[in-house]
Amino acid sequence: MHLSDVYADRFGLSFEMFPPKTPAGDEALRGELARLAEYDPAFVSCTYGAGGSTRDRTLDWCRELKTDFDQNVTAHFTCVGSAQGDMAEWLDAAKRSGVSNIMALRGDLPQDENAGGPDGAPWEPPPGGFRYANELVAFVRERFPEFGVGVAGYPEKHPECVDPQTDLANLKRKVDAGAHAVFTQLFFDNDHFLRFRDACEDLGIDVPIVPGVMPVTDFARIKRITAMCGSSFPEEFASALEAVKDDKEGQFEVGVDWAVNQCRGLLEEGVPGMHFYVLNKAAATEQILDGMNLAPVPA
Ligand code: FAD
Repeated sequence: MHLSDVYADRFGLSFEMFPPKTPAGDEALRGELARLAEYDPAFVSCTYGAGGSTRDRTLDWCRELKTDFDQNVTAHFTCVGSAQGDMAEWLDAAKRSGVSNIMALRGDLPQDENAGGPDGAPWEPPPGGFRYANELVAFVRERFPEFGVGVAGYPEKHPECVDPQTDLANLKRKVDAGAHAVFTQLFFDNDHFLRFRDACEDLGIDVPIVPGVMPVTDFARIKRITAMCGSSFPEEFASALEAVKDDKEGQFEVGVDWAVNQCRGLLEEGVPGMHFYVLNKAAATEQILDGMNLAPVPA
């Protein structure tokens, strides 16, 4: 299903997974996906390692999601470090693998000291490559018009950007280039999302803005993730997790409760759908969906 149809007449639930690194991880993920499929998602998306580290694995998983799980598939794709010929080749393979939509991303810039030019000069794309995701969106829309295109939005601003207004203007470039929906970075305070949504509307961004929801089940891991992506952590949530820091089950319960409340609030605000960062584990997402009464409808 094309992204422009996903939110047209129903609540668009989607799940994001990443390609595991081992055969055992693949096998475990199959079991988790079978459970999540019960919730009849509008699509399942598979991430792509910036710089191409999962170039083949992402395609393998997209094919499997389509063929064995009968899912509508969104493939993430990052342009950082790639030349246009390579991008076209991969996108063509994605089309042949049954992918319906592309999550068009720049990807994080390489961190190693040789990533830029000599003497620490800023990062430069390869000849014929792209500097920003809006160029990738335009490329996909022009060369592969059959794909729906999703893009990333940042309720608390992208960490590289100087201020929220500039970041929003850059998001608008992606929508003006033809993106069909915006998927947000994770956030734990709905006020960030609601302010972001209002600001998007003020700028004339008129595609669905879909909140990204990250179930927290491991305090140490989420601290690492938020430090990288720049999302803030509410004091109240941090202290509730701190109080159970040596208790895995306790962390799971606190994380699920927080997400259920967050999601109920988002539903009341009329969001068009929710994109769950399931991190390849079904249990927390299942409990959140059950807590929101979005449990599967019995056949
Ligand atoms: P861009 O939109 O290009 O923005 C990057 C920075 O440049 C921002 O600060 C922006 O304000 C600025 N900018 C943008 N356009 C311009 C312009 N024309 N002129 C000047 N400045 C500009 N990463 C992965 O590696 N793999 C994944 O599968 C993946 N999936 C993701 C899914 C979602 C829903 C989200 C929210 C993020 C995902 N990411 C993924 C992370 C993403 O790649 C990083 O956040 C990355 O640093 C930025 O990517 P972008 O597409 O938002 O870049």
